[in-house]
Amino acid sequence: MLEFENLSKTYHGAKGDVCALQSVSFAVSGGAFVAVRGPSGCGKSTLLLAAGGLLAPTEGRVRVAGRDVYGLTGEARARFRAETIGFVFQQFHLLPYLTVLDNVLAPAWAVNRPGLPERARSLVAQLGLEPRINHVPSELSTGERQRVAMARALLHEPKVLLADEPTGNLDEKNAEIVLGYIADFAKAGGAVLLVTHDPAAARYADTSIHLDAGRIIRGEGSAETS
Ligand code: ADP
Repeated sequence: MLEFENLSKTYHGAKGDVCALQSVSFAVSGGAFVAVRGPSGCGKSTLLLAAGGLLAPTEGRVRVAGRDVYGLTGEARARFRAETIGFVFQQFHLLPYLTVLDNVLAPAWAVNRPGLPERARSLVAQLGLEPRINHVPSELSTGERQRVAMARALLHEPKVLLADEPTGNLDEKNAEIVLGYIADFAKAGGAVLLVTHDPAAARYADTSIHLDAGRIIRGEGSAETS
């Protein structure tokens, strides 16, 4: 579902070149929950942005659901991303003046399909947010805010869920709830890539890939192919 083939990324900064990823190859199949771990600066966010079609690699290929993501034009890639990939970040990125329901429906502004209001309501209920459906983010707990972000990520029934430290701002109980929903997404056949330096979060994954200085130094299970 998600494949990295010899992926390399070099940033050309004012202070010289930084090689953030070096020949990274692995695949995440549908139904798999893979954690990417490693110290700060090892390339985790770069990998996630490249996976999400948001950062073109210097070399190599990213395939999502069989499509070469960077072979698409910018517009086609944006549409493909909106339809195929869900993102959850450490910061929730909710729109402060919109209700829970309208935040969940925000992706429908970019890609509209029939039935989205009903799906949004059903996700709100599934994620235990029904009593909060007409509340705005400032009236929610951090755990509830992340569940809204999760529902928003799932609106278009993505095939791939990319999560960047989604529990970084949550207490243990709320972290477990959010990780449980992420694991459910994989159990239902989706592919999950979770970037984290938290070993407790990584325990929800069935496989961990360890990065150091942009290279895979250790990978467990079937996700590692290089
Ligand atoms: P992590 O998410 O594991 O902390 P990153 O992917 O953010 O790592 O960064 C990997 C390396 O690339 C780091 O050395 C970082 O300083 C560098 N880097 C990240 N973004 C940029 C950028 N836009 N320009 C220059 N260097 C960058």
